[in-house]
Amino acid sequence: MRVCVIRLRMLFDAATSAITIEHRPRNRHTYIVIDKTGEVRVRTPLTDVQKIRRLLTAKEGWITTKRDQIRSQASNHAIIGETIWFQGVLVPLEHFPFFKGIELIDAHHYDSFYTAEALDYLPQRMAYYAVRMNLSPANIVYKRLKRRWGSCNSLGVITLNVLMMQLSIEEIDYIIVHELAHLVHLNHAQAFHALVRKFLPHERQLRRGLKHKF
Ligand SMILES: [Zn+2]
Repeated sequence: MRVCVIRLRMLFDAATSAITIEHRPRNRHTYIVIDKTGEVRVRTPLTDVQKIRRLLTAKEGWITTKRDQIRSQASNHAIIGETIWFQGVLVPLEHFPFFKGIELIDAHHYDSFYTAEALDYLPQRMAYYAVRMNLSPANIVYKRLKRRWGSCNSLGVITLNVLMMQLSIEEIDYIIVHELAHLVHLNHAQAFHALVRKFLPHERQLRRGLKHKF
């Protein structure tokens, strides 16, 4: 079997740069096959490239529809093999019941997932350190923040970014202790870091690691 590839860029959209022609002298007919990736293959006894070209042009509508169907089916199964950052490691999506039955995953799904996980995990961790540090925030807000892991204002309201569920447990603890320490020091002076270090001896290392993550 002789296989040759002809470029038919002008025939289809830019996504299809090549069509593979498999020359099968023993075949009686020409078959157009579209594989799982949407690649078009022609199995044909014909040797005249112009004839093959005309045949493809005649079938262009069918090929385009079929190929789009195959591609959208493929993207419906994006969940297979995809991984997500969770507590400091990459975990396959299938691991989480949350993603079961979701065919097309978008940013909204990721946000809901991390929000649900954050609401499940962060309040008890927050309470644990608040008791240990003998501090009590006026309120704690859990939400998706764009540019920071957390914040604490002068009214004692602490806001935690739900996306911190992507980070390791130690890093999550660091952010919690960091924001709680702001209830005492509303700055990043020496005394502030000393207070954090009292509860997390590796605070410097954790702080440096986190710098690269936002
Ligand atoms: Zn701070």
